[in-house]
Amino acid sequence: MSIDPEIAPQPKRLVWQEATVVAITIATPRVKIFRLRPVAWQGFTAGQHVDLRLTAPDGYQAERSYSIGSAPDRSGEIDLVIDLIDDGEVSPFFHAVVEIGDTIEMRGPIGGHFIWRAEDGGPLLLVAGGSGLVPLMSMLRYRSDAAPDIPAALVLSARREGEMIWREELLSRDRDEAGFHLFATVTRDVPATPGIHHGRVNAGLIASALARLPAPPKTIFICGATPFVDAAADLALAAGIPFERIRTERYGG
Ligand SMILES: Cc1cc2nc3c(=O)[nH]c(=O)nc-3n(C[C@H](O)[C@H](O)[C@H](O)COP(=O)(O)OP(=O)(O)OC[C@H]3O[C@@H](n4cnc5c(N)ncnc54)[C@H](O)[C@@H]3O)c2cc1C
Repeated sequence: MSIDPEIAPQPKRLVWQEATVVAITIATPRVKIFRLRPVAWQGFTAGQHVDLRLTAPDGYQAERSYSIGSAPDRSGEIDLVIDLIDDGEVSPFFHAVVEIGDTIEMRGPIGGHFIWRAEDGGPLLLVAGGSGLVPLMSMLRYRSDAAPDIPAALVLSARREGEMIWREELLSRDRDEAGFHLFATVTRDVPATPGIHHGRVNAGLIASALARLPAPPKTIFICGATPFVDAAADLALAAGIPFERIRTERYGG
């Protein structure tokens, strides 16, 4: 049996290495996507993250985790999506200072719980708040390449339509992929696009997503800021999803 290197088990010892910034994309007014090429990269599983480390001239170091948004592939490059936290330490540095050609210290991939492989099966219910979309997008992109028959629904909350990361891609996947359904909602303005809801993720939106799946979800992945994840996990439990099917990733805040 051959093992696909992209989903092979990762070595346990994590080492810091350099990664070169090969592209930077402005995704929304507060979000930039950094494409990194690590020196030595062995692939990853959808849902995993990496740690980045910054070192100041006086030796002070700051480490933060960032999920991988691209699908597992053999390009040797990964996309990290950094949401600007105004009073933060690391995210403003990436937004204001980091340029194409810079090298960043990185280690990973990391994470064995919040991951999905095609052989794990479905249906999948994905619930994202803001940049919590990132690891779920990796799963969705991978799913459409590797297992498009596995049904999936994404419940996505953003502040405004213009702050929805990968908005166009998500809308076209919703339109074109038979097994994928998007339930997007914006909390701070009235959506212009038909089908996008207004308000917070609530029991009704979770029920609508569940109703579009042909069977109860095998796994539900919830990701975002801590209060969002806690609220969404409560809604999932209230909707009758067993505790052991719910996986969460909290970004802080
Ligand atoms: C596994 C994992 C994956 C992550 N993936 C991503 C990702 O893909 N994209 C991304 O942008 N971030 C992600 N994060 C969050 C990221 O690691 C940092 O916490 C974030 O970028 C803020 O760092 P900072 O140094 O700018 O702010 P800090 O200096 O750490 O914090 C400044 C202030 O902002 C608050 N704060 C920190 N994080 C958040 C948040 N997420 N929401 C609201 N307030 C917050 C803090 O409580 C503090 O008051 C992830 C976190 C984890 C644990």
